Amino acid sequence: MPDVVVVGGGPIGVLIAALLQRSGVETSVYESRDAISRRPRAVGIHPPAVTVLRHLGLALPGARSIKRGEARDHASVLGAMNFDPPVLMHPQHLLQAELDAHVRHLRRGTPVLGVDNGAHSARVHVPGESVSARIVIAADGVDSSIRAETDAVWRRRAGSGRYLMADVDDDSELGDAAVLWFAQRGVVESFPLPSSRRRWVARAAVGTDLAQLVRERTGVRLPRTSAEATSSFRAAQHLADRWIHGRIVLLGDAAHEISPIGGQGMNLGILDAAALVPQVLSALDGGSDVLDVWQRERKQRARQAMAQAAFNMSVGTPIPAPFQPVKNLAIRGLARGPVSRGLAQAFTMTRL
Ligand SMILES: Cc1cc2nc3c(=O)[nH]c(=O)nc-3n(C[C@H](O)[C@H](O)[C@H](O)COP(=O)(O)OP(=O)(O)OC[C@H]3O[C@@H](n4cnc5c(N)ncnc54)[C@H](O)[C@@H]3O)c2cc1C
Repeated sequence: MPDVVVVGGGPIGVLIAALLQRSGVETSVYESRDAISRRPRAVGIHPPAVTVLRHLGLALPGARSIKRGEARDHASVLGAMNFDPPVLMHPQHLLQAELDAHVRHLRRGTPVLGVDNGAHSARVHVPGESVSARIVIAADGVDSSIRAETDAVWRRRAGSGRYLMADVDDDSELGDAAVLWFAQRGVVESFPLPSSRRRWVARAAVGTDLAQLVRERTGVRLPRTSAEATSSFRAAQHLADRWIHGRIVLLGDAAHEISPIGGQGMNLGILDAAALVPQVLSALDGGSDVLDVWQRERKQRARQAMAQAAFNMSVGTPIPAPFQPVKNLAIRGLARGPVSRGLAQAFTMTRL
């Protein structure tokens, strides 16, 4: 029987399995999908997560560094901050492909159908067989079916909204900077991507013309292809009240859903996974309460990340026109001195 079974071969499931295997823990991963999803999701990998991935031996080939963030109102720069060390831009599906090469016993196309939680082990059911393990890690995403089998309460937290997003060729003058436009009718975010591309994100209803909206709020013209490249997502935030249920541990999006605005969900999961490894080793050696300590500490970090994301979303909401100069003044103030350093730390997750 493996020591650990991981349910879900997304970035966090594969990462925890690779880290545990490197520490000598026999670990298997079951993933329902046959292949890695190419749906655009995470792109920003923050410095603490980069350290974890590099330590595992990942090269992150082709990743693009962002060293500077700017706040703008149309062409006027309200403030700027430097990211040192930089944030790396690397699409999630490429990260997952590299992670897959660092793990053994990953079974794709194998959905976990259910789990029996026992006193000393748990039994995972997959088509045609059942596998027991001393610990089962549920990294099966926001809609975790394993979480649904526990008595975890999935609590809604502040921060929600509907966003449009497009990854397009970049012929703008914005270079390597991440830029946030605090337009009166709502925020627009833009991040450089590898291969001379850029991601554009704006709070807007489905059906809105993203290129037109970007032009109105920022003055930047997107290439024609932006209409086909546009997707939409609903940002929401949830936190599971308990992450440890007997032999089952919830990890990554199965434990916390963080709004993509601010780009922290996957990064937080990476840091949760790195912090979980010594606690799993200790629990397998018979240590008691070690997983609870991890849960307490990491839940606190998740709450911080959610507060940050809720703040990011609230400053992005439309305001009445007469208040725009006041908002610009506040942003100019925030983008100076120690406050700017604090914001840069928050955006690069060096405190999570
Ligand atoms: C538009 C968008 C942009 C984002 N941008 C960022 C960003 O810039 N930075 C950032 O940090 N985060 C970002 N995120 C969040 C990030 O994508 C997630 O936090 C991350 O994917 C979580 O990884 P995970 O492995 O926990 O879950 P998932 O990626 O959801 O993986 C879960 C896996 O479990 C599998 N699974 C589910 N049920 C079962 C089952 N019963 N049996 C077997 N397998 C199962 C699924 O097929 C899936 O592969 C973004 C999200 C979105 C939607």
